[in-house]
Parts: sequence; structure tokens; C-alpha cells
Amino acid sequence: MTATEAAADPIVDHVGSQDFKMLIGGSFVDSVTGATREVFDPSTGGRLADIPLAGADDVQQAYEAAAAAQPAWEALGVKGRADCFAAFQTLIHENREHLAMLDAIDCGNPVKAMRVDIDICDTYLEGWPAFAQSMTGEVFPASPGNLHYTAHRPYGVVGRITAFNHPVMFAITRPLPSLITGNTLVMKPSDETSLSTLALARLFGEAFPPGVVNIVTGGAEVGDTIVTHPNIKRLAFTGSVGTGLLIQKRAAESGYIKHASLELGGKNAMIVFPDVDLDLAVEGAIYGMNLDVCQGQSCGSNSRILVHAKIHDEFVTRMAARLDEFRVGVAYDEATDVGPVVSRAHFDRVTGYIESGIAEGATLVRGGGRPDGLPAGGHFIEPALFADVSLNMRIGREEIFGPVMSVFAWDDYDTMLRDANGLDLGLTASVWTNDLAIAHKTAAALDAGYVWINDSTRHYFGTPFGGSKNSALGREESQDELLSYLEQKVVHTRLGDARASLSRLLG
Ligand code: NAD
Repeated sequence: MTATEAAADPIVDHVGSQDFKMLIGGSFVDSVTGATREVFDPSTGGRLADIPLAGADDVQQAYEAAAAAQPAWEALGVKGRADCFAAFQTLIHENREHLAMLDAIDCGNPVKAMRVDIDICDTYLEGWPAFAQSMTGEVFPASPGNLHYTAHRPYGVVGRITAFNHPVMFAITRPLPSLITGNTLVMKPSDETSLSTLALARLFGEAFPPGVVNIVTGGAEVGDTIVTHPNIKRLAFTGSVGTGLLIQKRAAESGYIKHASLELGGKNAMIVFPDVDLDLAVEGAIYGMNLDVCQGQSCGSNSRILVHAKIHDEFVTRMAARLDEFRVGVAYDEATDVGPVVSRAHFDRVTGYIESGIAEGATLVRGGGRPDGLPAGGHFIEPALFADVSLNMRIGREEIFGPVMSVFAWDDYDTMLRDANGLDLGLTASVWTNDLAIAHKTAAALDAGYVWINDSTRHYFGTPFGGSKNSALGREESQDELLSYLEQKVVHTRLGDARASLSRLLG
């Protein structure tokens, strides 16, 4: 291989032989025990690197660094903290290509989409300081001669644990509201996809004072150590419902009351009425699946598509044709629209669902297999489209978190609504019709945290993002989230008799 060919290899360029270290107290470190975990390329199955496997001692060191840094960070004020955000943003821009490539290599998301994931972060890096600058408290005109007002204080150290599917975007954006409010951080990315967060550790280390952001890597055990740490009282979690439930249990077992925001899974309904513009709805269904962003491995994906019987067949035909246009391939290939799913275990899980759909009587209209001509060790799945799905089937009711779409046919409005609301999940939903009265009636009846009408999947910074039922606890991306990182207290002052004071002072 010539030097030029070697330089063009994204693995050599972006992973190479670099050491991926954790960030604790401003230093880049291995775990105390020296334990590591191997990580693999989902596009080829090839070994990429080792990442540190933190243990309880590492979490304790990270906590102590965060606790030591917190008072000065709080004292810096919003403007001082915003300056660090601006420095961080500049470094992210300078490292955009490297970070996007690392996510493609390590997570399997198409590199085109990962560039967009990084560009999206600007909104958050600029939006959170603006929100924090405009925060106000309250004064209560309770009774004459008394003054009551609210004051806010950060919790101190926040424990933040994230999911595997948008590694760098989560590592950049999710800590921001806790940081801008004066908290410091112990953060753990998913052990499936830690490389971009460890690369980002260098940028956090440059832009923020030592100890403000601490990054530890590892899996469930490290997460549990953060969750049960006696002094980490504010937890923030993005991941599955199962882990979210476990976190609530383990936090309670720690013997401390912990404040936790939980952003969990979804099995999101897209409801299509017969009057809809079919092309628009088909495009919305595809866009809403996030196929060409993360292979449908997205909490908000509209994986349940409830289409009125009158247009069902035509909808399915057009969906299948549109899906044929997506090119499945190696994630760091510029031509790829849909990359591999994150791991062999997840590949087995998703393909297991596809087999169960067939076994339970759904019609596999297209996809579901492994495309030809791609690296043998890659975890590729042709986007699968099922029709004739019902809530009795596992593919109809369980979150698959992969490139699998299920179409339900409906003709009775109330039955359709019962199905749409018939799960313990309620993250997002969308309603597609040209009739505004029907659209708003249906939006009101849907038990979900975020409902789009004739649109899907887009987040608008400033609007509260989160779900109902088992899909979430708390809301992100809004004033609600900012306040959730602050403890509130009321200060009461008895002002007394001002006339008596005046005569005493002035005679
Ligand atoms: P996961 O629950 O398996 O893991 C999430 C994180 O929790 C990882 O960092 C993992 O190491 C850690 N973890 C695992 N067990 C733990 C434990 N016992 N204690 C503490 N931490 C633990 O989820 P995942 O597979 O990484 O992500 C997929 C899930 O995340 C899906 O259900 C998806 O819907 C959800 N998700 C939700 C949102 C949202 O905003 N609502 C966004 C992205 C992903």
C-alpha cells in the first residue's frame, strides 16, 4: 500500500494508533486498574482500538475533581461559562471532520449524517447561554411588610449517562444545560460508541477549567457506580426503558433521594388519514424513521405507521419504491445512506425481530436481509418494510431500534386511536391530514410528549422534548430542562415598619 493510499484510509487517519483516554480533573488518563475494552468497526467487524474501562476508583476521582471545580465554576457566572461554551464551539468546528468520521467508524452512522449531527450542536451551544442569560426568579406579593423571592442554586455534580446512537451530538449537547447553570459533570458515554466522546475530551479539556467536565468510560457497572454515588444527587440519563427503570430502583437503593431526568425509548405512531398528500406522507415516514441518520436506531423513529385502509396499498407500494433508493453501505463511504447497526448483538436482536414478524403473520414487503457485496463482518440490514402488522405482534408493540417499519391498516377512528395509545410508551407521534380540525383533535387525543402535524422527527430548540408514560421523566431542550438543573429556594424577608426605621435613622 502506498503512503497516499494509507493516508486515504479513514481508519488510519482518524483512529490510527492514538490512545483514547478518559478526562479526569483536567488530565487524560487510563483507568486506575488499567482495564480496557476492545471496540470494533460495525462496518467490517474489524478491531479498532481499546478504551479504558473505569471502575469505582475512577468514578470517585472524577466525582472529587468535579466537586472541587464546582464552586469556582458557579462563581464564574453565566457570562464566564458562556465564554467557555464559545471556545468549545470553535474547537468543535475545527475538529468537525474528525469527530464525524469517528462516529461513522465507531457507531456505523453514515458520515454525511454525522456532519449534520455536529452542525446541529451550534443551536445548543449558542441557545443554552442565551436561555440562561434570560432566566428570571419570582417575587411574591404575599403580604405587606414582607418580601418573598426565589433563588436558584446548582445541584453541584451531575452524573450524565448517554445512549449509543448519536455519540458526539449527545456528548456535546446533553451536558450543556447542566454546565451553563453552574453544575460540574461526571459523564459516561455508551461503551458501544465512546471514541468520539474520548476525542471530544481533548476539546472539553482545552475549553473548560480542569474538573468541570470529567469523562469516564465503561458499561453498566460504571453507570451503576455513578447512579448510586452518595454525593451525585442529580442524574441525567438517555437510554432504554429497562435501564431507566433500573436507575430509579438503584438510585432509591442507594439511600439518597436523587433527581433524575430520564429520556427513554419509543414505539412512535405515525397516523395517516385518507385525504393526505401521499408523496408528502411517504417522505415523512421515511424521514421520520431516521434511516439515513442512524439506521432507524432513534428514540423518535416513527416505526409504527397507521395508514387508513383506503390508501394503505398505494402507500405501501410507494414506500417500498422509495426505500429502494437508499444505498446501504460502509458508514464512512460518502455514498452510503444507511450504515450498519451498531454491533453484532444488536444485529442479531433486530434480525430476530424480523424473523418474529414473519413468523407471527406480518407481510414482509421488502428488505430485512443482508445486502450483497459488503464486508462480511459488517452488521448491515436492508431497511425492512412490513405490512399487515397488529399490536399482537412483537414487531408491532416492542421498540426494535433498527431499520424496521411496520404498517398497520385502519378504518375505524376509535380503534386506530386505541392502538396508537395502546402501549406503555409515548415519546412522539405524528398526524398526517389536510383537515386541521381532525389533526388537532387527534393530536390532543394522542398520549405522547411531542406530536407533529404533517411533519416528523424535527426538534425545535426551546420546545420541551420528552415523552409520556414509560418514555421519559422530565423534559429536555427547553426552560424546563434548565430549571431542572437548579434547586429552588424561597427567601423570606420581614421588612418591618419602614416609618419606625426612618425616624430612628433620620431623627
Ligand atoms: P441502554 O439503556 O442499553 O444504555 C444507555 C446507557 O446506559 C449506556 O451508556 C450504558 O452503558 C448505560 N447503562 C447500561 N446499564 C446501566 C445500569 N445498570 N446503570 C447505569 N447505566 C447503565 O441504551 P442504548 O442501547 O445505549 O440506547 C438505546 C435506547 O436509548 C433506546 O431505547 C432508545 O429509544 C433510547 N434513547 C432515547 C433517547 C431520548 O431522547 N428519549 C435518545 C436516544 C436513545
